Amino acid sequence: MSTSTIMAPPAGEVDAVLDLLRPDLQAFAGYSSARSSALQGDVWLNANEAAWPNPADEGPTSSRRYPEPQPVALRAALAGLYGVAAEQVLIGRGSDEAIDLLVRAFCRPGQDAVLCTPPVFGMYAVCARLQGAPLLEVPLRDDEAGLHTDIDAVIARARQDNARLVFLCSPSNPAGSEIAPADIERVALALRGQALVIVDEAYIEYSTQLSATALLPRHANLAVLRTLSKAHALAAARVGCLLAAPALIAALRRCQAPYPVPTPCAQLALAGLAPAVVAITRERVQQVCAERERLASALRSLPGVRRVYPSAGNYLLVRLDDAQRAFDALLAAGVVVRDQRAAPQLHDALRISIGTAEENQRVLAALATLRAAA
Ligand code: PMP
Repeated sequence: MSTSTIMAPPAGEVDAVLDLLRPDLQAFAGYSSARSSALQGDVWLNANEAAWPNPADEGPTSSRRYPEPQPVALRAALAGLYGVAAEQVLIGRGSDEAIDLLVRAFCRPGQDAVLCTPPVFGMYAVCARLQGAPLLEVPLRDDEAGLHTDIDAVIARARQDNARLVFLCSPSNPAGSEIAPADIERVALALRGQALVIVDEAYIEYSTQLSATALLPRHANLAVLRTLSKAHALAAARVGCLLAAPALIAALRRCQAPYPVPTPCAQLALAGLAPAVVAITRERVQQVCAERERLASALRSLPGVRRVYPSAGNYLLVRLDDAQRAFDALLAAGVVVRDQRAAPQLHDALRISIGTAEENQRVLAALATLRAAA
């Protein structure tokens, strides 16, 4: 698999981003693991590993040895998939781990703020809370077109309250809306020297928009989150990554656990990125997108459905006259959806993931019983 050469921003701009790391971590070397030293030999007695494989785990790919800290073949495959250089990829335990790592590495408790745009994926706020970092919330704006990120408000609030990390989610979970690359660029430019802007693209495979990775060569203070958990159907493998300037990736690697990628997971992920497999994945993504549009229009025609937001993800955000009854009717039919009513602005909303055509049909049938009973 070929990987791109690094088209990095000027060194001065990368240094300015490294200056945003917590001052106490800027010269931090991290843990020096047995696997990180470049020694050669054929008898490996430097990591206190067992002399034999576990009896339940014999064979050429046993888990007796510690894994490569950043598996070379998987890193190359991810770089090829995302159109960046291998040095721009940090692999972690899902993109969740990368979010946590960013907050821990950049934010001093009580000082450096994290900005997010609720209603949105909850881990940005959870990680800020765990780190004791102030949380700045810039609500999505609800208008005729959908629930959108308010770019001017994000810039203004980040400047006013000194955000160190700005999380933009595109496509946004659960709203389904996208952020145009030009708007992402505007935020990165406005916050240059002040904040790292992270674009969470967990669902971008379901969107027609270009990835923000195309902006990485021009903006050192931009990073992109990608995952194999959604379109690639490998949620249990826990493989996600951060894409950013190589120096930032290296700095974050020093703050990460020594062996964050279990060998069986790396092998599964690599198999899942073989070209023939990726071709099937792309077809399935197309199927999901077609089902999303079919389900959205069928839902819009049901009484009791107030609004179905346009979605660029593999889910629909639906406002209902009686969300509790709808949730209960779905549950009674064995269909479990995500109740969003505790989220800001979503007091009447459910989020429905797009399933197979048969599963989506069950959603429609359950909501149609609701109509009959109304
Ligand atoms: N970002 C978004 C927007 C998500 O919705 C999710 C999972 N629901 C994640 C990141 C985390 O994904 P993972 O850790 O599986 O890569």
